[in-house]
Amino acid sequence: ADAGRREAILPGTGRGTAGEAGGGGGTASSVAPAASPLHQPAADPPPRAGEDLTLADPLDTDLAGFDAVVVSPGVPLNRHPIAARAEAAGVPVIGDIELFAQAREQLPAHKVVGVTGTNGKSTTTALVHHIVEAAGWPARLGGNIGLPILAADPLPEGGVYVLELSSYQIDLTRSLDCDVAVLLNITPDHLDRYADFDAYAASKARLFAMQAPDHAAVVGIGGTPSYEVARSLSARGEHLTKIAPGACMNQSRWPALQGPHNAQNALAAIAVCEALGLSREAIDRGLESFPGLPHRMERIGTVNGVLYVNDSKATNPTSTASALAAFDRTHWILGGQAKTDDLEPCRPAFGHVACAYTIGEAGPMFARLLRPDMAVEECGTLAEAVARAAKRAEPGDTVLLSPACASFDQFRDYEERGSAFRSLVGGLA
Ligand code: ADP
Repeated sequence: ADAGRREAILPGTGRGTAGEAGGGGGTASSVAPAASPLHQPAADPPPRAGEDLTLADPLDTDLAGFDAVVVSPGVPLNRHPIAARAEAAGVPVIGDIELFAQAREQLPAHKVVGVTGTNGKSTTTALVHHIVEAAGWPARLGGNIGLPILAADPLPEGGVYVLELSSYQIDLTRSLDCDVAVLLNITPDHLDRYADFDAYAASKARLFAMQAPDHAAVVGIGGTPSYEVARSLSARGEHLTKIAPGACMNQSRWPALQGPHNAQNALAAIAVCEALGLSREAIDRGLESFPGLPHRMERIGTVNGVLYVNDSKATNPTSTASALAAFDRTHWILGGQAKTDDLEPCRPAFGHVACAYTIGEAGPMFARLLRPDMAVEECGTLAEAVARAAKRAEPGDTVLLSPACASFDQFRDYEERGSAFRSLVGGLA
């Protein structure tokens, strides 16, 4: 902002942040960035209302003269009036990733990796970050995972910023030229925020449109929309890596990267790290030592010979399908706040399910859908589901929480749901 002080906070817009939104969280938004956005030293507490910061309702504020309206990715721009007001005033609406992009020229020489896709973003982002760091290069994880990137200390020369980018964050970004950009896959999700599936796919494809043409692109070509993205990038030549579906590799030395979906994530990470210039040995070492992420196919432990797996992060049927495919004789806990009434993506793995235990708002609907194909117990709560699954499961079976739903009907977020599952399992032991 011209004065560097003209800031305002949006009123809350209710709970609009589902799964992918994150990255700064909440719904509060400030208008007009401070002059030096990358780093606020910890010793210097952020300004508070009434001191250095003016709080106002931006819907009552004349936006003319502002450089930008900066919103959290949780604000649904298709429904929130700030978008139209900003457009009328000719002011761009951006997010924290764009502030980072604009601050890059002030940073020591570095590289940026951006990872998007419907499923596998966090795993792939954390994996790339782990491999780079294990190789001894300075690296920082950010975006839709962990700390907001603007809260991170700048890296010394030669550092790599590895950013997980939701489509909401890409929508709020105009000038992020990733040295390596990754699109893992595109399946229907978040359609409440987009006009249609094509608009959602187009949002993800913008990540490549922002790149210099000689920068590297890595695209999973498992489905038609991402295949089309790869085709549109064919002029990149050697700078384009396509990850084919069913690409096969020996995953036995990567304990935290089991299942076919993780083959895709690992291949993408390998392609990224090769593009960054890491040696094959360094990449192998990182793949082997990757500890995995909590709430994603997390093996909690074995009680009475039954394995308990926390996949609370699986908030849509496509991600649940890959979890179901990974185990035989599975006691499947699912339900919550449904994003769709379509469980068809999971059908190929129905044969792995010994019994389904439904919870939450979507419980009765899912029970109806699944009854023709499998045994179903309607449980209502997670506690009831864990108790009943523990009773029914036999040694060698797996109890899998992979809800295919958002958690907001019963929990603050997927992390609280996964932690609740972990303590319920702890109570069984
Ligand atoms: P995101 O950050 O995109 O939500 P995560 O890496 O957190 O993805 O994984 C969420 C869930 O999605 C995992 O628990 C797993 O079941 C599933 N998943 C992970 N990677 C993939 C993939 N490449 N394709 C399909 N499903 C995946």
